[in-house]
Amino acid sequence: MNNTSIDENGSTMSVLNAKHMQDEEAAFSYLEDIIWPSGPICPNCGVTDNAYALQGVRTKPSGKYPEGKVRHGLKKCKDCGKQFTVRIGTMFESSHIELHLWLRAIHLVCSSNKKISASQLHRKLGITVKSAWLLGRRIRKAMQ
Ligand SMILES: [Zn+2]
Repeated sequence: MNNTSIDENGSTMSVLNAKHMQDEEAAFSYLEDIIWPSGPICPNCGVTDNAYALQGVRTKPSGKYPEGKVRHGLKKCKDCGKQFTVRIGTMFESSHIELHLWLRAIHLVCSSNKKISASQLHRKLGITVKSAWLLGRRIRKAMQ
């Protein structure tokens, strides 16, 4: 294993052990608290805090997920009836990468002194190099 300086840094490791960096449901709660401090905001009609959580909704079955994947953080607006998640309108939108991996990637990019490469993100997060490259690019762009 090729361990870089980030792994040897105790504080960095403990942050990566935080629940929202490990668990998808916790990652959504974490981001919702930051983006929606006054309750969910519907991206379709703009109403604040008039949505309810949809539990147990799954994606269509696929080869990789024969029973579908749980759709975390799904909300339904009581005003317009549209479904949405906290990812919409953020840099996390239209990405199939799980949110807790995004949060890990952001932490890695922000905490590393040197520019972290796509292949490092790929190894640390267990995602493809292509995904790692996309994440790194979006995060750096958002930080500017
Ligand atoms: Zn709405």
